[in-house]
Formats: sequence, C-alpha cells, structure tokens
Amino acid sequence: MDTLIDMHRQAVLAHPSSQPFWDGARQGRLMLPRCLACGRCHWYPRAFCPLCQQGPVRWEDASGRARLHACTGLLRDPSRTVMAFVELEEGPLMLTHLVGRELADWRIGDALQVAFRALETGLHLPVFQAPAAALPAAQPAQGASGSSS
Ligand SMILES: [Zn+2]
Repeated sequence: MDTLIDMHRQAVLAHPSSQPFWDGARQGRLMLPRCLACGRCHWYPRAFCPLCQQGPVRWEDASGRARLHACTGLLRDPSRTVMAFVELEEGPLMLTHLVGRELADWRIGDALQVAFRALETGLHLPVFQAPAAALPAAQPAQGASGSSS
C-alpha cells in the first residue's frame, strides 16, 4: 500500500518467531504472545518474556479491542496513512495504522477494533478502526405520534 506498511511488515517479519502472528492474521485472528511464567502479554514477539525475563511464551487469541494511545499523519493530505500506537486490551502497545477516519477525527482514548488488510504479498496486516457500535446509529423517530399543533 505504501512505504510505511512495508516498513512495519518487514520489521515484524524479520524474525521467524513471528510466524504464528501472520498465520493468525491470515485467518482474521489477532495473535499475541503471553508469558506462562508471569501471565502477561507483550508485543513485539520475542523468544522470552521482556517483562519478567522468563518464559516460555505461548501464542493466544487477543480480543482485538484497543484504545488509541497516540497517532500521527499528514493533516494536509488526509488520503495518507494514519500511524498509531494502540493500547491493546491485553496491555501491550502496538504500532499500527488507523482506518476509516481522517487524522483530525481521531481522539486519544478512542475505542478501537482490529480489522485486517490483505497486502499484495499475501500477508494480512492488522489495522484498527472504530468499533461498529461507535458509528453513528440511525435515531428512531421519537414523539412522532401524538404530537400535533
Ligand atoms: Zn513474563
């Protein structure tokens, strides 16, 4: 899609220990490594837990829910990618992209839900968007009956 995505993809692909992440993404699943010693999740993938320096580590399904921690992009070119750090519900911060809104419409703390974008390479990249429940809902007409003047 653009060079930012390529940089992200190659950074994560650089180590074979991230293969469960990409296998999950292909199935629409956000996978995270969880330490069996301390029980905490971390990101990015490592062979041992960076939080307690132990392990082993097991891959598991994440909820896909997150909060916006920080984002940046080009206000003068809203068609460009919005880069973000999101705080996953499981705890870790993840560098990713936001989709569905322009940069100026995001707020720190916004609720997010993971989605996946297929790349030309066949990989699927997790991105984050506003959850469906946060989208403006059609308001039912209230008080339409019985009002007259
Ligand atoms: Zn640990």
